[in-house]
Amino acid sequence: MTGSSEARRRLAAVVADFRAALEAESEAGVEWLAWEETRRPVPAPRAAPDRSAKERALAAVATEVAACTACKLCDGRTNTVPGEGSPDAAVMFVGEGPGEQEDLSGRPFVGRAGQLLRRMITEELGLDPSAVFIANIVKCRPPENRAPEADEAAACIPFLRRQVAAVRPRVIVTLGNPSTQSLLQTKEGITRLRGKPVRRGGFTFLPTYHPSYLLRNPPAEPDGRADFRVVKALLSER
Ligand code: URA
Repeated sequence: MTGSSEARRRLAAVVADFRAALEAESEAGVEWLAWEETRRPVPAPRAAPDRSAKERALAAVATEVAACTACKLCDGRTNTVPGEGSPDAAVMFVGEGPGEQEDLSGRPFVGRAGQLLRRMITEELGLDPSAVFIANIVKCRPPENRAPEADEAAACIPFLRRQVAAVRPRVIVTLGNPSTQSLLQTKEGITRLRGKPVRRGGFTFLPTYHPSYLLRNPPAEPDGRADFRVVKALLSER
């Protein structure tokens, strides 16, 4: 193949991927920041994207995240933490942002909270943790593990939106207040929202406690586990 036909072939592949990503977002009803109650009904998808298209879309997000300087969190990061898991995941978990160990490793939920999260996925959902997708609202570590600020969340959520559009999970589990409040655009606290499915923009959200909270408050763990069983029941709906 000549240099110019190879360049044309690559350009056509990039355009096709970009078009597929836009179509997936629009079909999935995933638009700007979050999933407001007023979102128009979502049309049925024409055809589910195949696994390799999903992998390419997720890899493109990770590449862009690695180069991102859209907010001040980029100044302090060691690694970006785009999220990871199965492109075909039926469940996506969304935390608030990477902590120290996640920043050092570039992987989400690898510390003690992550160990508890993965244990609950195995024990309550009956799933191997590699079968789900785990991500965060922000992809760079906030200083001192503080919650992401509104401008940081706003700058980063478009990446999550593209991950959701690629994976099309049946249930999005929001972990703790910052994740739940930014995705559902509410000021209501997690104690009131937890365990109750919310349907928005063609997706089902299930708010629950953040696993770090469960580590600090072990008596709340049975409630957190009960929420995971709600997720399991949602997955068994047709
Ligand atoms: N807490 C989060 O919210 N996300 C992680 O990735 C790790 C801890």
